[in-house]
Amino acid sequence: MPLEETTITLPKAEIPRTWYNVLPDLPEPLEPYLTPDGKPVRPEMLSAIFPTSLIEQELSPQRHFDIPEAVVEALSRWRPTPLTRAAALEKALGVRSKIWFKNESGSPSGSHKSNTAMAQAYYNKKAGIKRLATETGAGQWGTALSIAGRAFGLDVRVYMVRISLVQKPGRKTVMNLMGAEVISSPSDLTEAGRKAKAADPDNLGSLGLAISEAVEDAAGRSDTNYSLGSVLNHVLLHQTVIGQEIKKQLAAAGVSPDYLIGCHGGGSNFGGMAVPFVPEIKDGARITLIAAEPESCPSLTRGKFTHDYGDVAGLTPLLPMYTLGKDFQPPAIHAGGLRYHGASPIVSSLVKSGMVKPEAIGGPELFRFASLFARTEYIIPAPESAHALAAACMKALELEQAGKPGNIVFVLSGHGLLDLAAYEDFINTY
Ligand SMILES: *Cc1c(COP(=O)(O)O)cnc(C)c1O
Repeated sequence: MPLEETTITLPKAEIPRTWYNVLPDLPEPLEPYLTPDGKPVRPEMLSAIFPTSLIEQELSPQRHFDIPEAVVEALSRWRPTPLTRAAALEKALGVRSKIWFKNESGSPSGSHKSNTAMAQAYYNKKAGIKRLATETGAGQWGTALSIAGRAFGLDVRVYMVRISLVQKPGRKTVMNLMGAEVISSPSDLTEAGRKAKAADPDNLGSLGLAISEAVEDAAGRSDTNYSLGSVLNHVLLHQTVIGQEIKKQLAAAGVSPDYLIGCHGGGSNFGGMAVPFVPEIKDGARITLIAAEPESCPSLTRGKFTHDYGDVAGLTPLLPMYTLGKDFQPPAIHAGGLRYHGASPIVSSLVKSGMVKPEAIGGPELFRFASLFARTEYIIPAPESAHALAAACMKALELEQAGKPGNIVFVLSGHGLLDLAAYEDFINTY
């Protein structure tokens, strides 16, 4: 008998036409971003590195933003993305819960990051910018922005965390192929990079340090802006296409979700999935939102809620967020995209008000579930996405024990085909 494996696709016409801004609907208003002397950041202070349109999206209380036609067109190359019932995985786990995954791995970069990369490239181009500087940890964001730069005619320079460059040289090849320049961070090209290298010539780099380099690069040139792939409000805004599509797909399948799960690095795929459900949760819908973060970089579960810098050098505004401290050096885990000391202010606010439950995931279970998924659903998850997948599997097993099966949805934020070293390590160890 065929498995009850269902994929809910949506026609192209169903691509969301607006982004949903959760700021006016947060249970507690977001605290302002601060300058080093403790004063609220004024919008014009951000204009050295961001176009006005994105600054407006960052700070505006407006609930919906129209997605420009050119961005809809760019997104339509791979959106809407499928929502698939992982019936083979359910069977292997022996659970009666239904597990659905929103598959963001089919984008040009192989992850959800293309959703915001296309939007950011569009707005920068429109503002007359010629060049974008950014950082990349694991390489997915650099890849997404390189492709978006190609799509909208912008030069892209990527400061790539040195340890990632050593571990994943294939990522650099992809970015170079797209025409982007890739610089090992810390580099000699910026003050922040030179300082870090002087202090420690063997510095392997970190996301926070690479951000410092990219921000410094952008602030120093009028033709260049900075682009960030996570954390900020406008990035989560662009990612709300994920949650909006999930809503339509669940409705089409006649399913009401009990658990919505995403992995959390800087909060963009989780936030993009979760925030479109905030209004109905406020109205009493019983949906549990779970942010799955790595045990080794547990900003939401172990960090402190305070204002902190987004980078090592302290060039960014102070953001209200859960943080492990800007100088926290996460261990070199394979899920490079989750190695960030801070968190999205929006997700932090939702955690603080109790609407989002953070969970720290780690240990051999992580890759055990990832391998099981690969062997049953035939997709190799990104190590980052594996955190969401593992949380979903553990929830299904827990519900089974309690005799209360439910509907579980998680975001497969990307595929792991360029992360095979992680799987090789797992196979060699277990
Ligand atoms: C970057 C990345 C993440 C983590 O970033 P968020 O902003 O927390 O979503 C997760 N999964 C994949 C595949 C990524 O590329």
